[in-house]
Amino acid sequence: MVGVDLGGTKTLALLVDSVSPGAVLSERQAPTPASGTEIVDSICSLVRGLAEQVGEVVAVGIGLAALLGQDHVAWEAPNAKALIGLDVGGEVERRLQVPTVVDNDANCAARAEQDLGLGRSVQSLLLVTLGTGIGGGIVLDGSLYRGHRGSAGEPGHMVIDPEGPLCPCGQRGCWERFASGSGLAWLAREAIGDGRASSVLRAVGGNTEDVTGELVVELAATGDGAANEVVDTFARWVALGVANLVNIFDPEAIVIGGGLAPLGDMLIERVRASFLEYPLASRRNPPVEIALTGLGPRAGALGAALIASAAG
Ligand SMILES: [Zn+2]
Repeated sequence: MVGVDLGGTKTLALLVDSVSPGAVLSERQAPTPASGTEIVDSICSLVRGLAEQVGEVVAVGIGLAALLGQDHVAWEAPNAKALIGLDVGGEVERRLQVPTVVDNDANCAARAEQDLGLGRSVQSLLLVTLGTGIGGGIVLDGSLYRGHRGSAGEPGHMVIDPEGPLCPCGQRGCWERFASGSGLAWLAREAIGDGRASSVLRAVGGNTEDVTGELVVELAATGDGAANEVVDTFARWVALGVANLVNIFDPEAIVIGGGLAPLGDMLIERVRASFLEYPLASRRNPPVEIALTGLGPRAGALGAALIASAAG
């Protein structure tokens, strides 16, 4: 069984035990190419490399940063436009002659959380992945909810400021413009523009375009005051969206994953504190658990393997 997580910058493929898909036997990764054909080539090459180690791969699961339709083909992918209209699952299956399933990448991570993480102790959880954008996976009463057309779980594109910055999806003021890795960089640039973050500006030699979410995190970890204020603002935006989700779904837990999860306690404590500013969401009894995923950066690929395993 192979699970593949096709990320914006790199593709991770895990060979997992067919009987116990939580057990990783081997892994490979490669930079994610820009074009659709090369993406399929790259996935096939990663899977073949892993197959050499076991002789045969029984199924492949692939997580895509895209909104998938009922035909399992991406009809929109704000942060990975090359995937639009590309039948990744069909192409990989045809070329490798191995049963292949595709799903949204955050659905895959939610599936891993459900089977191997916090989902072992709760029946309903929302996984929110903070990366280049924001992904979402909805587990209700022990089942992953995909929606009528297969495109549920896109909280990153709930509009929270109709006058806000333009999102690659075509809307303005989507949650992920503020509360993702690129949102964190945008907040830092706003602070620089207001003269509140000269230390951040110095760190990039005066080039505001070079400000990244990772850089802000690194500076904040060193105790930089301006960077910490940006992270505080960021945490308030994260909490705002989390409160909206709690008011809609009333889950037992919200699990934060994705590329910004390494922010760890620095982030989660501030999100929990800001969440208290939303009484309808935060006064529930028992309270909503807001936790970081314990599964790390492999969650998406693990979940893709689990979904492939269940499909077979
Ligand atoms: Zn959007």
